[in-house]
Amino acid sequence: MYFVPDPAVHAGHDVVVVGGGDSAFDWAALLAPVARSVRLVHRTARFRAHRASVEKVQALGIDMLTDSEVSGLYGAAHLEEVEIRHRATKDTTRLPAQTVVAALGFIADLGPLREWGLTLQARRIAVDTRMATNLPRVFAAGDITDYPGKVRLISVGFGEAATAVNNAATVIDPEAALFPGHSTEKEN
Ligand SMILES: Cc1cc2nc3c(=O)[nH]c(=O)nc-3n(C[C@H](O)[C@H](O)[C@H](O)COP(=O)(O)OP(=O)(O)OC[C@H]3O[C@@H](n4cnc5c(N)ncnc54)[C@H](O)[C@@H]3O)c2cc1C
Repeated sequence: MYFVPDPAVHAGHDVVVVGGGDSAFDWAALLAPVARSVRLVHRTARFRAHRASVEKVQALGIDMLTDSEVSGLYGAAHLEEVEIRHRATKDTTRLPAQTVVAALGFIADLGPLREWGLTLQARRIAVDTRMATNLPRVFAAGDITDYPGKVRLISVGFGEAATAVNNAATVIDPEAALFPGHSTEKEN
């Protein structure tokens, strides 16, 4: 298994990418131009990745082995073959591979935040529309927050940070205006 620090390291390799999320699809698309072959293996036929990423990988002609998982890695000094098992039929196939990219996601760990008394929902911090948590003067923004309809994107996190900061300002200084004004309205 391999974390991918430099795509060029895999030039000319047969690559097997394991996973069905954004990371798997990003790496499959990135390695396609440099690798000899790229195959994507995923446990189901449903992908969590953005639809555009899935369509890009499909357009690149990358072989997608769905309802399948890696059941063995073979080689002597180096990886030479990967065994893929179909989850329903249990049939196995061996594919040539010198690289396996395990893009299986990550587990967010709240660490000490768990002990703070924050209201948590599915390991995320519940916030209201001000980005305020249940604790006085504690605000949150970004992927770690949760509320109905939450979309985990960079642009959303930026907006939430602005909302959190401006609402926090009114808590620190009750006379402060919630809306900070537009920079374009400021006089020179
Ligand atoms: C593979 C992948 C592809 C994506 N592609 C896109 C995309 O194309 N467009 C898009 O808009 N979004 C994309 N996203 C989502 C986007 O990355 C997140 O929405 C965004 O990064 C969230 O920002 P954040 O600051 O809330 O959290 P993060 O970016 O996760 O930052 C949290 C930071 O906190 C640090 N940290 C954690 N614990 C502690 C601690 N105890 N003390 C101090 N620091 C700590 C972490 O090291 C990290 O640097 C993608 C996500 C993934 C996983």
